[in-house]
Formats: sequence, structure tokens, C-alpha cells
Amino acid sequence: MAYKVPFVDVPTHFRRLQTPIIETITQVLSRGNLILRDELREFEKKFASFVGTQHAVGVNSGTDALYLSLIAIGVKPGDEIITVSHTCIATVAAIVNAGGIPILVDVGEDFNLDVTQLEEAITPRTRAIMPVHLNGRACDMDHLMSVAQRYNLTVIEDAAQALGARYGGRRVGSFGLVAGFSLYPFKILGAFGDAGIVVTDNPEIAKKISVLRDYGEDRETGEILYFGFNSRLDNLQAAILNLKLQYIPEWIERRRAVAQMYREGLSGIPQLRLPHFSGDKYFDVYLNYCVCVVDRDELVSHLKECGVEPLTPISLAKPLHRHDALGLERFSLPQTEKIAKEFIYLPINPEMNDEQVQYVIECLKNYYRKAKLK
Ligand SMILES: *Cc1c(COP(=O)(O)O)cnc(C)c1O
Repeated sequence: MAYKVPFVDVPTHFRRLQTPIIETITQVLSRGNLILRDELREFEKKFASFVGTQHAVGVNSGTDALYLSLIAIGVKPGDEIITVSHTCIATVAAIVNAGGIPILVDVGEDFNLDVTQLEEAITPRTRAIMPVHLNGRACDMDHLMSVAQRYNLTVIEDAAQALGARYGGRRVGSFGLVAGFSLYPFKILGAFGDAGIVVTDNPEIAKKISVLRDYGEDRETGEILYFGFNSRLDNLQAAILNLKLQYIPEWIERRRAVAQMYREGLSGIPQLRLPHFSGDKYFDVYLNYCVCVVDRDELVSHLKECGVEPLTPISLAKPLHRHDALGLERFSLPQTEKIAKEFIYLPINPEMNDEQVQYVIECLKNYYRKAKLK
């Protein structure tokens, strides 16, 4: 069955830009520009300038962006890296694969690292903090950066979900020594496949990652500097990403408008906790519209019956530190556990029209009207 309101809508996304996308593909292929060519360099330049950093280096996923960042800052076996459990497993996997030990901190009501619990997680072995700007909302970066400075810790931002989000006027990705973004199809800026990118102001780190992603070989000198990887951002994808990047401010405005419609339509329902949080320094981009409810399963089946497709990623519904194979059960994170039981993502994307948003609102209102009658 096709949903009336699908969670994401690739065909509509493609149709809206079909002509320029096909032109771009034709141009790139006619020139034969496949690997590490001008299109990639141009995209990297524009992406860095959008975020507000000096450098950007395209890689083949957000996971690799984080992993290569950790390798580039020289994480050593046993170094502790503080992050959260309420995130994509890729955040924690990157830490472990780079030889680090993940130290998991609980989150606050906005689903992001609770900075008031940061200091107690620091030990003499702490090397870095990896804040995750979840759902398109920045972490409290004033507090986080000041703790990092006081303890001389490196900050690596996991900005995979938050391209364009701001804190105090600055875009996420420009706070830490280095930051990783995902360009997975369903992030704020998505390729038609896997892609990721690292940003930094530090020229040595940018250079090291650009060498590491390309077998460890310095293309300028021919010298092999490291045992590297193959994690290049595909040139054809870069050309398409470059085209899409110009629409990002418009797409973010549309996400914010949908969020505002949800807010107006749903704020009268006390059983729904909506993702609108206090703090005037924040500019949220709503990659996800994450609501919390106590009767999730019933609500999800009701929405599906109405033809609305919500999402509850299974890997978040069971917190990472509860997956036996990972050996992370020593952390006690009550807020993370509570959110895991209660959260649902409602559809939100730039392709949704007003009627679809209103339809989702009506379905939710009907559900709670019925619930009251029971
Ligand atoms: C998507 C995501 C990643 C991983 O990015 P990929 O491009 O899928 O490898 C890492 N961290 C967070 C928070 C994400 O949402």
C-alpha cells in the first residue's frame, strides 16, 4: 500500500530537480570526470563556506567522516571519548574502530548530550568529546566548549543530522577542531547513495584526511604517507550534491515551516510532547520531528491505518548500551531509556505539502479524541 504521507519521498524529490540533475550527470559523464575531479573540489569549497570552515574533505559516508576524523587527531588505544548512547550506532562504532573507548553520557529533554553531566564523565584518560547534534538541533555549545577548553579536550562534532543548524548564529560543524557530516540520502543534504564529508579549519587535519581517504597516497608528491583507506566521495555524486547545496536554505525553511504547522496543530494535545525547546541561541533544522508519547505502539498502528508513515528506528528504540554484543551495559542512562520507549518521528521533509501536514495533524487529533472516549 502506498502511504498518503510517506516518511520520505524520493520520487517527488527527484522530479522537482529532474532537469538540472540529468544535465549535471550528462555533463560530468561527457567530460569523463569520475574520481577526485573538479566537481568534488568545487563541492568541498562550497560546503566549507556554507558551514563556515576553511576546509572540507569529501569521504564516502558519515561513518567514515567520523572515523577518519578520529584517526586524524591521533586517537590512541584506550583514549576515552565522551559521547551519547542516544545516537546512530555509527557514532560509537567510529570511536571503537579508531581504538577509543566510548564513554556514554545521558541526554536532556531536547535529546542532546546533557552538558550538566559532562564534567563527571571526564577522567585523566579522556581525549575528546563527540557531541551529536541530533534531529537537526545543536547541542549547548557554549557550555560544551568551555568544559572542553578547561580540560584541554578535543571536540569532534557529529553533525550528521544537522547541516545548517545554528547555535548563537554559528553553524554546527564550525565549533570543534573537526566535524563529520553524513550526506546519506535522507539527511538534510543527501546524495543518491552514500556520501559524507569532514570539515575543519586545521590545514594539517584536512590534508591528512584527504590522503587517508585515498589509499594514504599524497597525490601531489606520489609519496605514500599512511596505510590508508578507499573512502572517496564519488565525483558524480559530488556534482549532484553541488547542485542541491544551493537549495539547502530553502529546504531548511520548508522543514521549519512544517514543524511550525505541527506545533500549531498539535500543541493542544497534552499527551504529545512536541520537539520545541527553549533557548534563543538555537536555530533548529528539523531533520526529524521527534514527538514523545506513552502509548507508542497503538499510535503507530493508528497512523499507519490512516496512511501516514511514522518512523521509530529499531536501533534507537532499544538503546545502544542495551545491545548485548557491544559490551556497553555498564552505563546507566535513565533519560535515554525513557526516550527510547516513547519517541516517534512524524514525517517531515521539504517535499511534503500543506495538505499532507494537515492530514497528519487530523489523524493525530482523531486518535486522541477516540482515546478520550474510551
Ligand atoms: C547518519 C548518521 C551517521 C552515519 O552517517 P552515514 O552517512 O550513514 O554513514 C552518524 N551519526 C549520526 C548521528 C547519523 O545520524
